[in-house]
Amino acid sequence: MPAKSMDELVSLCKRRGFIFQSGDIYGGVQGLYDYGPLGVELKNNLKAAWWRSMVYERDDVEGLDAAILTHRLALKYSGHEATFSDPMVDCRSCKARWRADHLDGKCPGCGSTDLTDPRPFNLMFKTTVGPVDDGASYAYLRPETAQAIFTNFRHVVDATSRRPPFGIAQIGKAFRNEITPRNFIFRVREFEQMELEFFVEPGTDEDWHKFWVDARVSWWQAQGIPADRLELLYVPADELAHYSKATVDIMYRFPHGLEELEGVANRTDFDLGSHTKGQDELTLTAKVEPNRDSNTRLAIQDTDSKQWLVPFVIEPSAGVDRGVLAVLNEAYRVEELDNGSSRTVLALARHLAPIKVAVLPLKRNHEGIVETARQIKQNLQKLGLGRILYEHTGNIGKGYRRHDEVGTPICVTVDFETLEGEQTVTVRDRDSMTQQRVPLAELTAFVRDYFAESR
Ligand code: ATP
Repeated sequence: MPAKSMDELVSLCKRRGFIFQSGDIYGGVQGLYDYGPLGVELKNNLKAAWWRSMVYERDDVEGLDAAILTHRLALKYSGHEATFSDPMVDCRSCKARWRADHLDGKCPGCGSTDLTDPRPFNLMFKTTVGPVDDGASYAYLRPETAQAIFTNFRHVVDATSRRPPFGIAQIGKAFRNEITPRNFIFRVREFEQMELEFFVEPGTDEDWHKFWVDARVSWWQAQGIPADRLELLYVPADELAHYSKATVDIMYRFPHGLEELEGVANRTDFDLGSHTKGQDELTLTAKVEPNRDSNTRLAIQDTDSKQWLVPFVIEPSAGVDRGVLAVLNEAYRVEELDNGSSRTVLALARHLAPIKVAVLPLKRNHEGIVETARQIKQNLQKLGLGRILYEHTGNIGKGYRRHDEVGTPICVTVDFETLEGEQTVTVRDRDSMTQQRVPLAELTAFVRDYFAESR
């Protein structure tokens, strides 16, 4: 059972150091958030899980980390300069600005119906590059990571000798000057995307599209989101983006409603076709703007027939921040306990937990116990699982509760029995709240096995 409301999540995130309003001490900036000590771990773990499944567990995907500041021609030929806009209306009474497609005829701020006609509002952030602001030396903060994958297509193909089907994966920041950012980290102005551009032979594109929709749904399930909380939306033809032949949105039941978590689009040969030189010599199916600036042919030559092929692109594009929100929402629960009290627990998948193991000494002023606990922390840290925390809290019971609330899967308590006889520690499990004694000599193997299956 997920969180009852967004407010519960926002409050937990602030209180325990997952997510803060950005620039809070100066009143904050709308649509910008900062990830705190636990948030950065959770976010990194989600991105690592994506990278593992997209790049390491496959043999047909390469990685990329391209610049955020993007050549303006890249975003001209991609269509973003002309079409990356939302319809905006202004309220003449209270001067608020809204997205026309989010309104039902009146201003959500003051209720007035005195609204301007909708006007297109370009969502890209523009900035000056170099010391002279002459109006011509500008670039954009990228509104998506995808374009740099297309503009690097030739480089990656030349460097790796890849031929379709193969993909290029990238995780990174994207920026959109959203008219009405809202719903916590769901719609923000600076966010991160995890995007794969998968290049396939035309004719195989529909099968690959299905393949990636299924693969992505399975992946979200492995991150702790049950199938019945996801829904596939086959975007109707008249609502498709200009580059898309078909798009399936993976929708999730966020606390504020059913909304897009990830989009999986069949982008045909639109992108490579838009950025390539020599468009006339290639057979393109997509309608593209004539490109007189590109100096590179973005196509692959068939070794036998010598024909140039422009691959189609299947793009699963997921938002990291929306992923974090979904994962937190699913994991959050308040449980009633047998003794009449309740506990808040974040039942995160083990590989996503910000702190993997908390090592707690029973007595903070007992040299033997403290030294052993510190040693355990050092040893477990070497497993490379993520953050292992040594923490002397004083009260072990309270320590367990605090770690339940931030999703730490196991706590290891070091006490007098650890120093004597069989030398065991207490291992306490977050989900079942059971405690078992594990010999110190077996602890490293125990922890390694415990985290082995989760990905
Ligand atoms: P929406 O319709 O919700 O504005 P979109 O269809 O414009 O989203 P895409 O361009 O398909 O989004 O971007 C791919 C993914 O990037 C989305 O599925 C979402 O997870 C994420 N994303 C897009 N815009 C934002 C935003 N403003 N804040 C947070 N994440 C975003």
